[in-house]
This record gives sequence, structure tokens and C-alpha cells, in this order.
Amino acid sequence: RRSPDMHLTNHISTGDDDVVIKILYCGICHSDLHSIKNDWKNAKYPMVPGHEITGEVNEVGKNVTKFKTGDRVGVGCMVNSCQSCESCNKGFENLCLGIIPTYNLVDLDGTITYGGYSSMVVVHERFVVRFPDTIPLEKGAPLLCAGITVYSPMKYHGLNIPGMHLGVLGLGGLGHVAVKFGKAFGMKVTVISSSPGKKQEALERLGADAFIVGKNDEEMKAAMSTMDGIINTVSANIPMAPLLGLLKPNGKMIMVGLPEKPMEIPPFALVATNKTLAGSLIGGMRDTQEMLDLAAKHNVTADIEVIGAEYVNTAMERLAKADVRYRFVIDIGNTLDKAAATTTE
Ligand SMILES: [Zn+2]
Ligand SMILES: [Zn+2]
Repeated sequence: RRSPDMHLTNHISTGDDDVVIKILYCGICHSDLHSIKNDWKNAKYPMVPGHEITGEVNEVGKNVTKFKTGDRVGVGCMVNSCQSCESCNKGFENLCLGIIPTYNLVDLDGTITYGGYSSMVVVHERFVVRFPDTIPLEKGAPLLCAGITVYSPMKYHGLNIPGMHLGVLGLGGLGHVAVKFGKAFGMKVTVISSSPGKKQEALERLGADAFIVGKNDEEMKAAMSTMDGIINTVSANIPMAPLLGLLKPNGKMIMVGLPEKPMEIPPFALVATNKTLAGSLIGGMRDTQEMLDLAAKHNVTADIEVIGAEYVNTAMERLAKADVRYRFVIDIGNTLDKAAATTTE
């Protein structure tokens, strides 16, 4: 039901509940890089990555009520789920054991899902979100993964209350959006990063209130027991005890990054002052829509570098070196067909 090289003029059979979307932009998430390199040992080739998709509705199935042709829409990390389990019924499709990620998984009809580095995608309406008019499709695309990934744990762990002190560990695709949501919620936001060079942009461009270099013992000491919560976006194995030390008693650290190796947690760092260490995986569809509407209200978008489809390989190399502020977004609508034409000539 999903094809990477489908042309808009071709006849396709649209399922009764499906929305056919002409893709205009797609963000490049770090997990795209992991997937194409088979870092997680689950790659199914040929693979079409991409799960930060924005575009326009091209056609809808006969049961579709939420969308009509021409609507601005988005698709994030999943395109299907069982739609009947307890998680699904509560709006947490992201926690469904039958979740179908947007690419690299076998869908219910037996086909492998293909993601947003393509001209078109067909998705059940439940997994399509309405894009607010005030958010540009390119700047909003990364919200569909990076945005919901940080928004959902902030909401469910109560780290969205004005006046609270939020730590954002790691300033990349996820972290920079966490800073913006923290400020939108009226919180004090401190970035904890290993790159001193990011201090100025964190404070001046992203609006963070403070910046700590993780390896600077003095700065870390000064910030001990000051934070209500930390969103941990880092996917490297770094010592956890000093970071947990930044939390106030009853403070919470929520992991959204995925370090490769198991983490070492000294139990005392959690037990002594009632701290919580939790994990969080993207978010449900209702929360994704809520996140977008809130982003529109507070003018939260991603900082992006728009690229043409022909630049994707270079972008991947730069992403591997963290050489991007903070997300690449592919201009699918204007460049994919041209790039495809050049490669087949
Ligand atoms: Zn992602
Ligand atoms: Zn389910």
C-alpha cells in the first residue's frame, strides 16, 4: 500500500480509511542514519527512511472524515498499530505491541513500510495529524519525531509547570526542541552539554537560561540539587551519577536517547533522595496533535537546514559528525524528482 516511487498520476487503490499524502518535506532523524547502516541489526533493504513527513492530502478513502484533499498534514514515527489493545484505546498507539513504524517494518498487509524520503505515502487516517496553518511545513517536520519525543515525557512526568527548573541533557535535534518547549511552558531551562561551543547559541538563539559543560566539575557542582527534571537526549554512555546529582530530591530524569551499551546506575544516586529514572518512546497520536497545536500557539519550530534530495548522502555524513544545527530537512517537493532523473540518466 506504500510505494517509494509512485507517481501522482498513477492509479493507486486507496484503502477506505487511508489518506494519500503528497510529501513536500521530510526531516532526517538520527535513527534514519542508524537504520540505513543496520546499527540495530534489523534493516530490511531496499529501505526508504524518513519519519518526519509533512505534505498535502492528495486523496482520501471513503471512510475518512478527518481530512480532505489539499489539507496540510504530517506523519511521524508510526503508520499503524493494532488499534484495539489497552494502549491503543487510551491513545498510546506508541506503546502498542503491534506498532508499525513508518519504515523498515512489515505492515499488516505483509508489505514492508517505506518512509518519507519519497514522493508519496499512504497512511491510515488515525496516524495522520493536521498541521497548523502557522507552522511552516519544513520547520515543523522535525516536530513529528523530535518534538513529540520530548513533549510527551514532559507532559506525563509533570515537567511542564511554569517556574520549574528543567535540565536538557544534550543539545541536538531532540534537545534544542526540548529547550523551546521548556520555555513555552514557562520553565527555567538549563542545557547540559559536552560542547562549550554551543553555549552562545543555547542562550541567545534558543532562549535557554543557563548552560553547563558536563565535564566542568565546578559548573556541575554549582548546579547540584537544583533541577526538578532532566530530559536526557544523549545516546552515548556517560557517567550517570553526577547527572542524577543535578536533580532536587524527588527529581526525575527521563531517557529519550538510546546509548548503545547498558548504563551503570549507582543505586544510592536514585534511592538516597527519592529520584526517578524513566524512559519514554515518542508519543500517541492525540498527544502528537496536541503538541503541534501547542507549538503553533507558542511559535515552537525546529532550527533546520533545508537540503535537496541529491544532498542526502552528504547530509548523512555530516549528521554522523553532529555537523548540523539542528536538523536536516529534505525539500522533497522541489528536488526529489530531479535527483531521481539525474541518477537514472
Ligand atoms: Zn526519529
Ligand atoms: Zn494496540
